[in-house]
Amino acid sequence: MLEGLSQRLEEALNKFKDKGKLSPDEIKKGLREIRLALLEADVNYKVVKDFIGRVEERCLSSEVTESLTPFQQIVKIVYEELVKTLGGEAKGLDLGSPKPAKILLAGLQGSGKTTTAAKLARYLKKKGHHPLLVSADIYRPAAIEQLKVLAQKIEVPFYEAQPGEKPLEIVQHAIEVAKKEGRDVVIIDTAGRLHIDEALMEELIELKKTFSPSEVLLVADAMMGQDAVNVAKTFQEKVGLTGIILTKMEGDARGGAALSIKEVTGCPIKFLGVGEKVDALEVFYPERLAGRILGMGDILTLIEKAQETFDLKKAKELEKKLKKLEFDLEDLREQLRQMKKLGSIRDILGFLPGIGKKLSQIEFDEKEILKMEAIINSMTKQERKNPKIINASRKRRIAKGSGTTVQDVNKLLRSYEEMLKLLKQMKTPGRLQQVFRRMF
Ligand code: GDP
Repeated sequence: MLEGLSQRLEEALNKFKDKGKLSPDEIKKGLREIRLALLEADVNYKVVKDFIGRVEERCLSSEVTESLTPFQQIVKIVYEELVKTLGGEAKGLDLGSPKPAKILLAGLQGSGKTTTAAKLARYLKKKGHHPLLVSADIYRPAAIEQLKVLAQKIEVPFYEAQPGEKPLEIVQHAIEVAKKEGRDVVIIDTAGRLHIDEALMEELIELKKTFSPSEVLLVADAMMGQDAVNVAKTFQEKVGLTGIILTKMEGDARGGAALSIKEVTGCPIKFLGVGEKVDALEVFYPERLAGRILGMGDILTLIEKAQETFDLKKAKELEKKLKKLEFDLEDLREQLRQMKKLGSIRDILGFLPGIGKKLSQIEFDEKEILKMEAIINSMTKQERKNPKIINASRKRRIAKGSGTTVQDVNKLLRSYEEMLKLLKQMKTPGRLQQVFRRMF
């Protein structure tokens, strides 16, 4: 999902990496790349303009946070503004009252409306509701049949229209049946057309006026990009929507629709369709999607955690030692402790600039950190200060004391040696993170 956009944005953001300080010119240059990445992803022009404007303003007004690098600050700002563009807070389904609640689904033919009706019914059933499905698409008997089959599959009752019934009558009767049978939600699939036409809109307006559904959801195909956004805009203007369900998201590498539709229409995205199967429906959370787009996990949480947990003074001391190549095993242990405090090692490493994607593919074992710490704990102070004296018999003692093996001790010492070597190679041993990034 959104791989193309994700990759381009990561490339653009990575240009900010490893910079100690950013000049306004550098910020502007970097943001131009982000702008291009968004435009290439088919995001609406005005949405991009507003987005970049907000990010630039915040970057230039330099919300300085001591414990974040400029790169991290920019990632944080881009992330937060992405969340905003995607709709801010997640908006759940409104099932309102009276019972049964009515959910009206609208959309063009082929958008995935019928499949989505079944997916929603399944979702609500899992949540403990008692949905009933009905199709008001009298123009396409095949669509009615399709929903009936899906309803059987997910074991949700389906109201079958009588011959000659009009859409309004069908829905009326379905609601009566729902009331009688104690169903609390009626999901109404409506007629789809290949293109927007007046008759279709009139029918939807009638249905909406007559039954006052608590939700009028447009089902739109994310792969259609800006066309989907335009369709949504028209439906919003003519019928009035309460939300949008974007389908086929799993196949959409670009994300133009997802990133534009809320800003252009004012309607929140409520669900994502992520496959053809009836369980391929996800509640839409702007934060999660923004996180996925940036490919760096839940960045904000981690950045916040880092701000809370990292002991700046200690980090500075360590950095000084690194510069003087005085980093010993006691310092390594201190660093491991800091990392442990932050939580899952994979998340931490993913959060460090530039390694997120690569490392997230590797299975990381948090126990490894505990093991490393145990090994260092079993050393004498002298050994920690001067690891060179650790000979075979000392290794055996350390392994025994830490409940590990001599191989484990060797592995730790090798990692440490490699780290020192890298430190020496680096002309200007800079940030701690750079060293750690190479170490693992
Ligand atoms: P309708 O004409 O709007 O009722 O659309 P359908 O429900 O018949 O769906 C059209 C096609 O899109 C079908 O082949 C569905 O299986 C497919 N489809 C629906 N939702 C998704 C989705 O989220 N992902 C993918 N890949 N296909 C979907």
